[in-house]
Amino acid sequence: MNYCSECGKPVAKKIPSGDNLPRFVCDSCQAIHYHNPKIVAGCIPEWEGQILLCRRAIEPKAGLWTFPAGFMELGEGTEQAARRETFEEAQANVAITRLHSVLSLPHIGQVYMTFVGSLLSKEFGAGLESLDVQLFDRVEIPWDELAFPVVKDALRRYVDDVTRGEFRLHVADLPDRLV
Ligand SMILES: [Zn+2]
Repeated sequence: MNYCSECGKPVAKKIPSGDNLPRFVCDSCQAIHYHNPKIVAGCIPEWEGQILLCRRAIEPKAGLWTFPAGFMELGEGTEQAARRETFEEAQANVAITRLHSVLSLPHIGQVYMTFVGSLLSKEFGAGLESLDVQLFDRVEIPWDELAFPVVKDALRRYVDDVTRGEFRLHVADLPDRLV
């Protein structure tokens, strides 16, 4: 950040009084600009023992597979965001079943909140951000062609849960080397 979004004057990085971390502070209007992690809402859509994955049409990682996921918009809740992303990327409607995982990526300031959802019907298709959308059996998941390590981590935990028939909420921080 170079300029204040309040008044347009230059900002400087400094620790505001009463704080303990450097922030972008405007010397002109004194506004403090906080930068905090962003939430990515995702959904693993289920249909009769299979899950729906999308092949990305856009960078980064175009051509690789992911479950529907994307940044939350202002004004929406996490489940709503997960349903919206599923509709946008896979043209599919889901009912959210449960929260599967909260995976933090501290080095890039993102938190993936991934839900499991049930497809309301077997209707799906490639949205604008997808080249292809397909249902996969658990044994067919293209592990070597997944778009992001966090997607692989969440899917691995999902498959392990389903295989064991034990479901719990996964909360973890992913190390840098996984991204
Ligand atoms: Zn300012």
